[in-house]
Amino acid sequence: MCGIVGIVQKQETKIGKAIIEALTKLEYRGYDSVGIASIYDNKVIITKDQGKISEVSERIDVNSIKGKIAIGHTRWATHGPPSKENAHPHVDCSGDISVIHNGIIENFQRLKEELLEQGHVFQSETDTEIIPHMIEQQVKKEGLALKEAIIQVVKRLEGTFAICVVSNLNPDRIYCAKRDSPLVIGINTDRMFCASDIPAFLNKTRKVVLLHDDEFVTLTSEGYDIINFNTLEKVIRKPHIVSWKPEMAQKAGFPHFMLKEIHEQPHSLADYVRIKQPSLTRIAEKIYNAEKIFLLAAGTAHYSTLTGEHLIRRFAKKSSSSIIASEFESVNSLIDEDTIILPVSQSGETMDTIMAIKSAKEQGASILSAVNVIGSTITRHSDEVLYLYAGPEIGVAATKTYTAQTIAMWDIGLELGKLSGEINNSEYSEARKLYQQIPNIVKQTIVRNEARANHVASWFAKKNSSFYLGRGLNLQTANEGALKMKEIAYIHSESYPAGESKHGPIALVEEDYPVVFITPQDYTHNRIIGNIMEMKARGAAATVVIEEGDREIEELSKWKFEIPQGYSEMFSTIPYVIPLQLLAYYTAVRRNLSPDMPRNLSKSVTVL
Ligand code: GLU
Repeated sequence: MCGIVGIVQKQETKIGKAIIEALTKLEYRGYDSVGIASIYDNKVIITKDQGKISEVSERIDVNSIKGKIAIGHTRWATHGPPSKENAHPHVDCSGDISVIHNGIIENFQRLKEELLEQGHVFQSETDTEIIPHMIEQQVKKEGLALKEAIIQVVKRLEGTFAICVVSNLNPDRIYCAKRDSPLVIGINTDRMFCASDIPAFLNKTRKVVLLHDDEFVTLTSEGYDIINFNTLEKVIRKPHIVSWKPEMAQKAGFPHFMLKEIHEQPHSLADYVRIKQPSLTRIAEKIYNAEKIFLLAAGTAHYSTLTGEHLIRRFAKKSSSSIIASEFESVNSLIDEDTIILPVSQSGETMDTIMAIKSAKEQGASILSAVNVIGSTITRHSDEVLYLYAGPEIGVAATKTYTAQTIAMWDIGLELGKLSGEINNSEYSEARKLYQQIPNIVKQTIVRNEARANHVASWFAKKNSSFYLGRGLNLQTANEGALKMKEIAYIHSESYPAGESKHGPIALVEEDYPVVFITPQDYTHNRIIGNIMEMKARGAAATVVIEEGDREIEELSKWKFEIPQGYSEMFSTIPYVIPLQLLAYYTAVRRNLSPDMPRNLSKSVTVL
């Protein structure tokens, strides 16, 4: 995920300033490096550096970037850490063709090998850089015109992309193409824009054209021309006028980033599932052969490591321990060269986790991490990394990164199962098929439960205290649901293994006391019915997360959320947490709280 923008205009101006202004509106999409390609004096001029927009624009002389045409990029690294070399735009060998890209080119390795054989020289580790070199190959070796060359190239790309190309070969236009990454056009009388998202130009124009997949656009200061790049047929699409306020537009029409991020989960999970990471097999093998394994995390990530611990036990038949990073000292004396440390973190900057890793490394342990932010401190201290590919998360309460961390644990778990023989080849393939379905199930779960969550929230918002109960793996769902409610709605929420709740917590239950039960149709089902009965006998009001059609439990409940049939029991923790994210969100909203910025909390905890 990143922000891209392009401007082509009739008059020559200080275009660098306009690009930076537009990129600033897209910084929520990525912020590890910034770059601009402009055309001046018939030359492509690249200005780029690592850092946030505010830092980079202090270092470079933005006002000196003049011209009628420029493209700009704010990056969220997926291939290669944040650095000046990896910052976009990328250029071909001659420097005539420059490209910015949002997305992931899945077949880049194969295409890069081809280009290396043809003598192209690369300057970055990104997947993106193959694009200008491929275009160069088509123009300079095959003799195609620039537009035809780009069309030939995008047809060969697999994965997701929104790209913009500027070149001194056709200095008055921007060429764009997209598949599965967003791209919109903004129309003004004397200038045209293209961008990842509408906020980039909303203060300049409200006249917008949304592009569809497999479309190719030629953008000049006079207008736009769209074709389908497969059929080459012309596409007629009239602009429409957007009425969003700029702040709303940044959140894609959602009132808060948290809700936007909840809704992004089908996409973030699909990205995770789609991208094959070579580190996965190495990580699974190392865990399988290790003597001691400690998973390490803080906050929400801790619940994903508890899932990891369970899966290592189940699939590798090994014991492992999930340690809260700030408590790492208690196991420090056990760490040696035969130890694997598996830290899980969104930011890769959590101070407690970093300190624990450093100390473990000094004692010879191997560090295999699962992290969202590429190039972050934890990834730099790791021997192997599994990236979460969830994109930037702005809301302080983790949502899409939790489901990404959990699916990553399953990814490792399934590989361990195959290695240990705990699941045979056909069971493994079957499990992988069901695993592919997770994004779709999550999508249906959101649709089915959102309005209900808003409704239940009007009741929940009046409560001061609640319990979240689950069994087996879904104890983690209860833990995460309770944490969300605490974090953003400020309602005291305690999670407990359902079977244990009678050993203490039940003493607090009184008439209409909220107890949330996570009740999938698995081996925990019958026992949890007993736990619901115990609580109800004391007056508790049960909110249940059930599989669609589970009348037995539905009849015991005051409120229900339903997970659509067809999900795999195996991966239930991912869809089952979704209604709890929505419930916490709407409860916070009903209490007039700001879910994106809960009091006393910060996104990345970089103090001990
Ligand atoms: N895959 C590209 C990179 O790592 C683009 C990432 C993005 O969308 O920001 O540079």
